[in-house]
Formats: sequence, structure tokens, C-alpha cells
Amino acid sequence: MTQPRRYLFLSTPVGSLGSGAGGGVELNLANLTRTLLEGGSQVQVLAPQGSRIAGLPQSVIEPVAGLPPAYAQSQGRDQPVQIHTPSLLACLWQRAAQMQADFDLIVNWSYDWLSFYLTDFFRTPVAHIVSMGSLTDAVDQALEHVAQTHPGRLAVHSRAQAQTFAFAPAWMAAGRDPFVYLPCGVDLQTYDFVPHGNGSLAWVGRIAPEKGLEDCAALSEKTGIPVVILGHLQDPAYWQQIQAHYPRAQLDYRGFLPTRAMQQILGQCSALVMTPKWIEAFGMVAVEALACGVPVITYRRGGPAEIVSDGETGWVVDPDDVPALADAVGRLERIDRNHCRQRVEQHYSLSVMAERFLAWDKQICGDPG
Ligand code: UDP
Repeated sequence: MTQPRRYLFLSTPVGSLGSGAGGGVELNLANLTRTLLEGGSQVQVLAPQGSRIAGLPQSVIEPVAGLPPAYAQSQGRDQPVQIHTPSLLACLWQRAAQMQADFDLIVNWSYDWLSFYLTDFFRTPVAHIVSMGSLTDAVDQALEHVAQTHPGRLAVHSRAQAQTFAFAPAWMAAGRDPFVYLPCGVDLQTYDFVPHGNGSLAWVGRIAPEKGLEDCAALSEKTGIPVVILGHLQDPAYWQQIQAHYPRAQLDYRGFLPTRAMQQILGQCSALVMTPKWIEAFGMVAVEALACGVPVITYRRGGPAEIVSDGETGWVVDPDDVPALADAVGRLERIDRNHCRQRVEQHYSLSVMAERFLAWDKQICGDPG
């Protein structure tokens, strides 16, 4: 009999699990935790106070107190690392240090310099799921250090995300990829397939400048098509600006909803529109839309362009090109919603996700004893 693997997950410190502040990381962490537990592994999650994972007992989560860090997206590229005390991130790592002997692998889900820096100082191996592309020099340098000193410990979600890190192209040219690729998976049972759209569009995500909601507002104003918006309101001033700039856009903001309620609304729509201004590392919402049978119209920028198969599961258009979005909306009837669902079944299921994670774990820790 092999011993079950014991994983210690350190959640993102930007907000509690279930709040939406952590973006796609929250769903990804919840999905992997559930799947590993079902497969017989042990998982303990260290996460900010107030965290919940739907369907799992509260004992899976050990709450940790402290102040959250600033969003990495709002930092300047060359800004020094700032840590506010009492730091939630520092408390997460302090607790991990105390608990490490009881675990085979520590998995970091935060995108913070301190987390990468601490890799050298733990006896239990630390692996990192890097959830965003390059944003600051400090994180880039810490990542390159981990790649050099602990090869195979860094996972990303897409090729486009990997390419954003300045050190990556030189490594790849020398035949060494600094990253392992981990796709995100969803539980297909959570998403109902809806065979026909109701004519409206969906826009789903954190309401923050890097997500480019203004382009979807411009699309609505141009075409007169209503847009249902779902997501965590991270930047209220940005949201107000959009409403002021596009008074004729039909924007129907419904707030941040739990996954089951969110997919019910999303599934009714004729397409999900993704208009990122940054290189989106993955784009969980693209997979969630496809799971409902909803085609995705996205800019050719980052992960969503790798998820969407142009002309088959949606349309991939030039970045920042609102007329091209409108044109793609006019071609939606050519997309078979069955193909969208099938794409998720084949490439983005929980079992695909767990298999890739377990293969990564085996590379780091060897075969379970
Ligand atoms: N989401 C949700 N309820 C909502 C809107 C969004 O649970 O009403 C979740 C969605 O399921 C996804 C996350 O918010 O997991 C957004 O993640 P994504 O990877 O698209 O972007 P990120 O915020 O990580 O940049």
C-alpha cells in the first residue's frame, strides 16, 4: 500500500477564498483540493480568515490572520517590495514552517516576492503555481532564482504567460524550459449545457483596469447588444468611469455570484466576451463559458487565445479592436455550442488537471512511498 500524499496549500493572501478577490486562483485551488481529496490524498489549506471552499468541511482550511498585500497589478514594475505588518503573507509562511514536517509538498498559490524568496529555506519542498504573467522586476528576479536553484518547481498555465518573463526566452532558446505547464480544470457537473443563447453577451471577471471592461462597453454601445456583467468589483472608480464614458451601453451588473448561480446566467448568453489589456495568464472564465456551451470571443492576448479555437469554439480577434469584436458577434451562429462543451470535456476536466498536477508532484518528490 502506498502512503497518501500530504499537501500543504498556501492560498493567495489578497482575499479570503470565496470572496472573488483572488480571481481564478480561488476556483483553481478549490477544484484541485477537492479532486486530490477524492483521490485519497491529504490536503490542508492555509488561507485568510473567512475562507470557505464549497462542498468541503471547514477543517480543510486553517485560517490565518494579518494584512493582505497590495495587488501586484497595481504596483510599478520597478517598485521595491512592500510588506505591511502584521503581514498575512508572512504569517502564512510562518505557519507553513511550523507544519512542514507533516507534509510531503508545500504548494504556494500567491504571486509575491516573499513566497518565491523563501523556497531556499524550507526542508519540505516548495512548489509554486504562478498565476499571473510578469508584473514586477522583483518577482521576475525571484522566479529566475527559483528556476536556477530548484528546477521544476515553477508551474504556469499557458505558453503566453511563460513568455512574459524576461528570462524565459533565453532559457527556452538554450533548450531549458523554466516552467511546468498546468492547465486549469473545471467540474463539468457544475455547469449545465445550454443549447441556445438568448442574444445577450456576457462579460465575467474582476472589474479592474487590466481586464478591459471598457472595450466591452464600447461594443455594447456600438451594437446595441446588452451585456451581463458578473464579477468581483475590485475597482469601483474604474467601474464608474466606464458607466460615465459609455452612457448608451446596456450594461447589467449582477455582482459576484457563487459558481452555480454564475453559470446559470452565463449559460443563457450567446457569447462570453474577453477583452484583457494585460497578458491574461489563463482565463478560467473562458473554460467555464465553454463548459456551458457558450462560445468565447477574445482578443489574441494571453491564455484565452490558447483556450479558444478560432472558428470552432469562438472567435479570436486582434487586441483592442472593438469593430473586430462586433464583426465576430455577427458570426456567432457559425459556432456549434456542442463543440464548446466537448472542448472542455477533452482538455479542461478535473481529471486532466489532477493528472498533470500528480505528474508534477512525482517529478519533485518521486514516487509515493
Ligand atoms: N467568478 C465567480 N463569480 C462571478 C464572476 C466570476 O465565481 O460572479 C470567478 C470565475 O469563476 C473565475 C474567476 O472569478 O474563477 C475569475 O478568474 P479569471 O481566471 O477569469 O481571471 P482573474 O481574476 O484570475 O484574472
